[in-house]
Amino acid sequence: MTVNAIEKAAVEIPWMNELESIYDSMVEWRRYLHQYPELSYEESKTSAFIEDKLKSFGITDIRTNVGGFGIVAVIHGGKPGKTVALRADFDALPIDEETDVPYKSKVPGVMHACGHDGHTATLLGVAKVLYHHRKELAGNVVLIHQPAEENPPGGAQAMIKDGCLEGVDVVLGTHLWSALPIGTIGYHKGYFMAASDYINIKIQGKGGHGSAPQYSIDAVAVASQVVNQLQLIVSREVDPQKAAVVTIGKFQAGVAHNVIADTAFLEGTVRTFDETVRQKVKTELTNIVEKVCSAFHAEATVEYRFGYPAVYNHEKETALFKKTMDRTFEDKTIVEIAPQMGGEDFSYYLKEVPGTFWFTGAGNPDLEADYPHHHPKFNFDERVMLIAGKAFLSMVHQYLCSSGDKRLTEESNG
Ligand code: MN
Repeated sequence: MTVNAIEKAAVEIPWMNELESIYDSMVEWRRYLHQYPELSYEESKTSAFIEDKLKSFGITDIRTNVGGFGIVAVIHGGKPGKTVALRADFDALPIDEETDVPYKSKVPGVMHACGHDGHTATLLGVAKVLYHHRKELAGNVVLIHQPAEENPPGGAQAMIKDGCLEGVDVVLGTHLWSALPIGTIGYHKGYFMAASDYINIKIQGKGGHGSAPQYSIDAVAVASQVVNQLQLIVSREVDPQKAAVVTIGKFQAGVAHNVIADTAFLEGTVRTFDETVRQKVKTELTNIVEKVCSAFHAEATVEYRFGYPAVYNHEKETALFKKTMDRTFEDKTIVEIAPQMGGEDFSYYLKEVPGTFWFTGAGNPDLEADYPHHHPKFNFDERVMLIAGKAFLSMVHQYLCSSGDKRLTEESNG
């Protein structure tokens, strides 16, 4: 289908046209944020910008400094009903931007290279439309503007501790995605994004003369054995039906060709979906490092740091999302995509309340918007904000205005 088709295909909900009428503002907000990116845990100006915009729409129930620089705003509906939370993150990355766009980052070494500027502008547009139509809502909408997604422990956990999910029945979120073409929405039921853990290993040997191994403990030789044996975790210890990745990405040791290395340092990442697999990899990894090292008289120090847990999309909510998207966007570019090994702290919300997280396609080679996320030339087709915004509006409509449309809800509940 063409992009125009998906943009115009919002069939039933009049709010959609309103979102289109403020699209230019959304682009303006996004480009402003893009020029002034802030790193995780330092997003004070971004947070103030968001607060300002929400106030300018007329929204009064706004809580700031939630779990850091987070903002929680509530749009109270005209009638009682469920509470739907919509989340957008707003931190940037320590990357020096290499695009030629006129709205290029003005902060050296900091860049919105993951599209969180787009998430924020999208949710602001959605907030404006929903506030205007608040009397039509049977229930409330909680807007979660989250800082610090890029860097564990992350903003989601902190905002939850600070009460952002209180009274929330369902939570929804999206990531704009340059690997999916604009006009496509990718969803997945169940495990969608991986748990991402960090490992840091120090192997203490005993340095010596390169000609006299009998008096030394060779940290390079022992660490090489460790790296090799770690490859057996996935192939021999993990259920082949379940996914896991163990990568040692960094191996540092030695000072000269004729000196036996005293110490070796390894760093790596572990990706899993299932929590029992995650625990098993941790146990086996620690065991292998310690036993291999002790076999060769070296000393091991293992640090295994848990990152974000896996994103688990709830079945009922994801099924409802798929049905709602099919009806919202006439053509069938709503595709089930494979789980991703990347991580997202949206997982914490989904551990607390049911909901779903999906990818909204933002790639467009004609605009040079097809670089991967976190690349210095990353950019996206800004029309993704309209599509993601419509998806949010349509889901809110489904949950809070569907009295005339019970069939869909009941089908999905059944
Ligand atoms: Mn991201």
